[in-house]
Amino acid sequence: MLEALRRVVQEVSTAPDLNAALEVTVDRVRSIMTTEVCSVYLLDDKQNRYVFRATRGLNQSVVGKVSLGLGEGLVGYVAERAEPLNVEAVTQHSRNQYIAEIGEDEFNAFLGVPIIHQGQTLGVLVVQQREKRRFDESEEAFLVTLSAQLAGLIAHAKVTGLLAVSRRKASRTFHGAPGAPGVALGVAIVIYPSVDLSQVPYRKVRNVAREVDRFTKAVAETRAEVEGIAEKMANDLREDTLGLFDAYLMMLDEGAIPKEVVQRIKKGQWAQGALKQTIETHLARFDLMEDAYLRERANDLRELGNRMLSHLEKRNRRRLHFPKDTILVGDDLSLSDLAAVPRERLKGIVSGRGSVNSHLAILAEALGVPTVMGVQDLPMPLIDGGDIIVDGFQGVIVTAPTNTQRQQYRKLAEAEAELTRDLEGLAAAPCITPDGHRTRLWVNTGLFSDVARSLERGAEGVGLYRTEIHYMMSEAFPTEEEQRQIYRAHLLAFSPRPVTMRTLDIGGDKALPYFPIQEENPFLGWRGIRVSLDHPEIFIAQIRAMIRASEGIDCYLRIMLPMVSSIAEVDMARQLIDQCVREVQEEGVIVKRPDIGVMIEVPAAVYQAEALLKRVDFLSVGSNDLVQYMLAVDRNNAQVAGLYQEFHPAVLRALKQVADAAMKAGKGVGICGEMAGNPGAALLLMAMGYQVLSMNSPNLLVVKKVLTSLTLTAAKALLDEVLQLETAQEIKRRTDETLTEAGLGQLIRVRR
Ligand code: PEP
Ligand code: MG
Repeated sequence: MLEALRRVVQEVSTAPDLNAALEVTVDRVRSIMTTEVCSVYLLDDKQNRYVFRATRGLNQSVVGKVSLGLGEGLVGYVAERAEPLNVEAVTQHSRNQYIAEIGEDEFNAFLGVPIIHQGQTLGVLVVQQREKRRFDESEEAFLVTLSAQLAGLIAHAKVTGLLAVSRRKASRTFHGAPGAPGVALGVAIVIYPSVDLSQVPYRKVRNVAREVDRFTKAVAETRAEVEGIAEKMANDLREDTLGLFDAYLMMLDEGAIPKEVVQRIKKGQWAQGALKQTIETHLARFDLMEDAYLRERANDLRELGNRMLSHLEKRNRRRLHFPKDTILVGDDLSLSDLAAVPRERLKGIVSGRGSVNSHLAILAEALGVPTVMGVQDLPMPLIDGGDIIVDGFQGVIVTAPTNTQRQQYRKLAEAEAELTRDLEGLAAAPCITPDGHRTRLWVNTGLFSDVARSLERGAEGVGLYRTEIHYMMSEAFPTEEEQRQIYRAHLLAFSPRPVTMRTLDIGGDKALPYFPIQEENPFLGWRGIRVSLDHPEIFIAQIRAMIRASEGIDCYLRIMLPMVSSIAEVDMARQLIDQCVREVQEEGVIVKRPDIGVMIEVPAAVYQAEALLKRVDFLSVGSNDLVQYMLAVDRNNAQVAGLYQEFHPAVLRALKQVADAAMKAGKGVGICGEMAGNPGAALLLMAMGYQVLSMNSPNLLVVKKVLTSLTLTAAKALLDEVLQLETAQEIKRRTDETLTEAGLGQLIRVRR
């Protein structure tokens, strides 16, 4: 069964369009289950009805013409209940509805299972038989499993098909999650992993001769590479294994594949796209083969295709042209993809993976680039080069927008710009409530390009400088001197304001290209301070660079440790920091010992706040991670993004406990997670006693507007009230109401 399942899924996934995918499904399921009928009904979004879309065994001539509403007939009943229905004889079921033209009167047994994708019933898969009988458990299990696997493919084929048919002419809307606020209109530039053929976009080329030349060179380079590997391994491998390399060379030489690719290029497709189409056509044929050995050869072909792709890419990547209104699109964009686009050309970002709490989204927000995250089923190859709207408020993108949609989004962008202009007047004033309570509003930085904007918006300090971003953009660990210069520029720019430098925080979703960390469970693995303490040479170079950077300038340096989960880590880190201060002073450099703080990002640190406070000068809550670890919700996973709740009662209690401990110890306490930039949450944090709220600079003025409009007394009353509530939804609603009642409703963020 497992093998049968794998093959159907494979065939459906390589079908060229939705109709072909449905045809393959009904055909294969009927023969595997040896039933007389298999049909698929799919939801038509406009009619809100389940349309009879493909069949084997019933009347094919009414395919596309017959449909059932939700709850109508047995098919509608399956969709309504969203669970399988297995009946011995349809006539005995009260919900049966007779549709003459479909030709099913002679069939008694009926098994229907819903096709559900991301909680939405896309359709119903049905098998039927003349004989009166209940389908047995293994048949039901097979159909349910198949349907669950097909759902994603069908959802994908549905959008891809529509887009392919309309050839970018018809507008389509895709839903993801808000990543960074703002709207943008521009041209989609798809970035794809350079070793993954399946992600390659289709692009048209004019200069066919140049493209053929590029491809021919790539073939020659692949050939040389394969020969080189074969030669190197000649002594170590058995004859039959070496034969594999001959097979590769034959595929390259005997021409079938290169010839087909060239034919496709001549029709105007770029080399990468032509290679993808050719390899995928061949792969589909391999996959249909019964013989396991031959099917295995499909992997060789895929491998060869990816090798040729990487040779094609070597030249192409450097030449990637970013138009002046680039919308960067990719399934799994990295921070370096983002950094590769000149800032003034980058107007928006769309990522197939991740959520608002991913580092990509956080950095995009800092740069003020509207971003949508977690857009699944986006047909990357088809949208490349087309017009696209990014709505980072709602988490929506629109491909090939109509004129009306363009106007609508332009208006939205203007309204946002007006709101920002209105708030600009607040930049210079301190953040003081009408009853005289002052909160420090600081910024989170990472790229030097954040600095000017942060200062313009009245940042009073830096609460989190993400030093790892510089590491991520380098080609090797940066030297102490290189770091010193960058840190010094930051300290000088903000002088005399405080600058909180976080020590290297890699691991989790932050990888260094030159220091790969392979782990099953990276968010529970080697992250942050754990890496630094295991590599004191890297840690010491960084701390020395920070301390030396402060030499001779009027600045206030604070050093902060990420991902602390035990007291021993703080003791070790402090010892190393003290050692660095001593060393630098002994070298004759006149510097002060910086303040040292710990990030509260792990539940264990919440419960050890008092012990931590004995050892350090300040605490700063990293709510992005604290929420993920408290609620056991991966901050990058779009699937569970709805469970990532900053207003969760447990999170608020933990935050209050940390603030109480710091106040009791008379030490500084702040927060530098994204929560600080959420106006409603900021109000609650101020009421809890957080003295420093550090956020991305685009949120500074919005938060200041809220905190200068409401009294501390009102904020404390709200906090007391929401701490009695039992769900995040109630707390959020009550907080939003308070803002609305104060006339600040337009500042409520949709995010979280
Ligand atoms: C946090 O976890 O809240 C935080 C500020 O750190 P990062 O988002 O960089 O993990
Ligand atoms: Mg963190």
